[in-house]
Order: sequence, then structure tokens, then C-alpha cells
Amino acid sequence: MSTVPAYKPSAQGPLEETLPQLKVVSAETIKSSVHSPSENIEILRESLRSISDSLESASPQEVIAWGWENYGDSLTMGTAFGPEGMVIIHMLSEVAPHVHVFNLETGYQFQETLDLRERVRERYGIDVELKRPELTVQQYEAKHGGPLYKTNPHQCCADRKLAVLERGIEGKSAWISAIRRDQSPDRAQAPIVGWDKKFSLVKINPLANWSKQDVWKMITDHDIPYNPLHDQGYTSIGCWPCTRSVLMGEDERAGRWSGTEKTECGLHSLDPGDES
Ligand code: SF4
Repeated sequence: MSTVPAYKPSAQGPLEETLPQLKVVSAETIKSSVHSPSENIEILRESLRSISDSLESASPQEVIAWGWENYGDSLTMGTAFGPEGMVIIHMLSEVAPHVHVFNLETGYQFQETLDLRERVRERYGIDVELKRPELTVQQYEAKHGGPLYKTNPHQCCADRKLAVLERGIEGKSAWISAIRRDQSPDRAQAPIVGWDKKFSLVKINPLANWSKQDVWKMITDHDIPYNPLHDQGYTSIGCWPCTRSVLMGEDERAGRWSGTEKTECGLHSLDPGDES
């Protein structure tokens, strides 16, 4: 188990004084780069690589603070209210409570997941915005002659998650994700900060080098709210039709799209050109 770095503001002064080299890529630079010739993107990637290396030993709170200082209102966070997301929301309340947070409300989420949104509001005063697809579940299933998650889960995720995310991040330059490197092979190379080619955003992964134990220790130590389904064997929770509880010894994401080849909804899978 790795050591959980406790957050304490640097004794040497604000982050911009202690890590001045990190204030390299401004929101304006990102905005001008994403639609610019590819060499600009390469310069951006190079900057992010060096920033990520510098942040490798920073605490997640320092990483979040760096994101807020650099991107402010152009920073957003997507969450499915998993344990890692709840830990980051807790940290946001400490160091950057005004960061915009959203949830992709596919219409297929567990009620227990939606209830967490209210608990977040009560505990932290953070109002997580629900981003919904254009069609309700009823309209969507009527259009496709039944639930698409049974016959084409890739398309279902594309329509009810990816397309919604693309609308949700309009005007944003950077987003925070709660992925950990040890969750899956797809996530193993995630940097602390990198270029997300798929969505043309800087992607900030404050918990990239944390373990599952680190996350649960923080939840326990700080009495952070979490989805009660975790106590019933659901280690990773997405939409109810595509999630099952896991058996002892199974991988923590084994209950997602169980029995199919699918392992990711597409939000966090690496594409060529993503930073790794
Ligand atoms: Fe559809 Fe399942 Fe993807 Fe949810 S996780 S959007 S129900 S395929």
C-alpha cells in the first residue's frame, strides 16, 4: 500500500512560488492550440509532460490546486460518484470548491448513485450538474426497438455518455478525472497531467498514483460519503444494466459490462495521441 500524502499548504509559500515552472500552459494557450496546426499541439504536449513529471510527487490536493490556479472557470470535473470521485470532491471542497462538477446522467444510473448527489450537496455545498442525453430512456429505447445496451453497448455509451460529455465540456480547457493507474491496463499509463486528444482538453488525474487502499483509507479517515452499493460487492459502479457485483478474487472492474469484451465506456480509454 502506498502512503497517502496528507494535504498541507506548502511551508514555502503558495504553489506558484514553490513550483513556478508549472505555470506554463495557460487556458488561453490551450484554447488557441486546440484548433491550431499540429506543431502547437506538440509544444503543448511537451509542456504537459514536463509539468506531469514535476507533479508526480505532489499531493492530489496540490495537483487540484494547480489545475484551479491555471484554468479556473475553464476547469471541470466529471464524476460517477465512485469512491475516487468522492475523494476528489472532498478535496475540491478544501482547495477549489468552485470547480464545476458534472455527472453524466444516462438515465440508467442506480438510485443509490443519484442519491449521492444530494449527499454531496448537503455535506460540501457542491451542486453537481446532471448532464443528460437529448432523448429520455423511453424515447431512446423506442427509437432503437429496445434497450441498446443489450445489443450494442458501444453505441449506447457513445450516445448516452460520450456525446453528452462532448456537449458538457464546451468552453472548457481542462478536466479532472478520478482514474487510478492500477485500475486497468488502459489506465496504467495515465500521467498526472496530459493531453486528452479525444476531447481536446488537458486531463488532470490527481489520483493516478494512488491505490485502492489509499482511496478507502481517506474515505474512512474523513467519513466521506460513498455509494452504499459498495458494501454489497459492487466495486465499480456504472449504469445498472451493465454493472454487477464482483466475487471474491475478481478484478475490481470485472462487474462492468460483464460477459462482453467491453471494459471501458470510452471516456478514459487511451487513443493514439493521448499522453501516456
Ligand atoms: Fe448504456 Fe450500459 Fe453504457 Fe450505460 S454503461 S450508457 S446502459 S451501454
